[in-house]
Amino acid sequence: MAEIIDGKKISQQIKDELKEKTAALRAEGKIGALAVIQVGADPASSVYVRNKKNACAYIGIESLAYELPEETTEEELLKLIAELNQKHEVKGILVQLPLPKHICEDKVIQAISPTKDVDGFHPQSVGAMTIGEPGFLSCTPAGIIQLLKRSGVEIAGKHCVVIGRSNIVGKPMALLMLRENATVTVTHSKTQNLPEICRQADILIVAMGKPQFIGAEYIKEGAVVIDVGIHRDQNNKLCGDVKFEEIEPIASAITPVPGGVGPMTIAMLMNNCVQSIEEG
Ligand code: NAD
Repeated sequence: MAEIIDGKKISQQIKDELKEKTAALRAEGKIGALAVIQVGADPASSVYVRNKKNACAYIGIESLAYELPEETTEEELLKLIAELNQKHEVKGILVQLPLPKHICEDKVIQAISPTKDVDGFHPQSVGAMTIGEPGFLSCTPAGIIQLLKRSGVEIAGKHCVVIGRSNIVGKPMALLMLRENATVTVTHSKTQNLPEICRQADILIVAMGKPQFIGAEYIKEGAVVIDVGIHRDQNNKLCGDVKFEEIEPIASAITPVPGGVGPMTIAMLMNNCVQSIEEG
């Protein structure tokens, strides 16, 4: 029976630590706001945006909501970002993705000042992370490192297999595990013999975006399994990329969906906001 890694509990601990830190910073006169920009009214994005605003309220950071209509042009969005870059009281700028198709996401990400890039998506943040320089870390991968560390999972020297190579999860995940001295293998949709490679993993991190794809044949006895996927199954219940029931008896520890990686992403976003306020 695997230990269930409780992302809800661990993210709450982190938010409580951040709440204390924000209060201490406020006492020193260090305050700041997170600007949250949403373009259009995608229901999933609205839920994420609401959760982010609630987390800000919980830890004591002001959030400024910019809810822009679907027809907003790329130029208008870039202009707003340029204004927010100039505002001293705005310490973090977050543009909720995905954006409507007529707006280039890369251009928008690159328009955010790296000093306010609390999502950690700007090429400068990614470059800094790659060479171990200070900067904002991508929230989901940074949250997974916290989940592992706070659950007592040793990373150094372990073989970590990451499934997925996206810019927001797979690639930064691999880099952060490397930084923690794991031996890292990155796999993707063109990888051959995926089950065989995954069976070599001491720590398997699954971010492939395929509902309940990974079954027992991918898991070494005693492996730690981190499931990044979020989907709704045919009964509209949340599920991950992993067949939880099948893997839980084989793994030594596993994250559930919901209540695993998901809550950590927001906790790490808050961590980046507090870091930004601290740096002034
Ligand atoms: P993505 O679609 O951008 O990337 C998926 C990756 O999986 C790709 O690199 C692809 O090569 C790889 N892949 C696809 N099929 C594969 C296969 N059969 N074998 C091996 N590799 C395969 O997705 P993403 O943005 O990285 O997100 C992955 C999942 O994580 C999604 O379900 C997403 O909703 C979820 N997600 C969760 C959080 C969170 O906070 N919990 C954050 C971001 C993403």
